[in-house]
Amino acid sequence: MPMYLILRCPGCRAFSYVDRFQKWKLCPACGHAFEVAKVPAYLEVGDYHDAEHIIRQMEKHLHTHKKKDFTPEEAAELRHHYAEWFRKKCN
Ligand SMILES: [Zn+2]
Repeated sequence: MPMYLILRCPGCRAFSYVDRFQKWKLCPACGHAFEVAKVPAYLEVGDYHDAEHIIRQMEKHLHTHKKKDFTPEEAAELRHHYAEWFRKKCN
């Protein structure tokens, strides 16, 4: 059951994660408060350790490919990878 959403601050574009029932998120990077429902979630994950792990992978991916954001295809691939990884982790 996914509990956390991975999203990006609309102000500084830093990745962060939020409890799915939380309404507001305070960006740890720039201090901007934004409404969770208004920001698209990249991924839903099971716990915050996963969220931190995946955010590092996402940042690394963008840095490696010198990109600013994920395409919808890449975001779908990301969700697929996480599902696979999560399945292996639980077995
Ligand atoms: Zn920010």
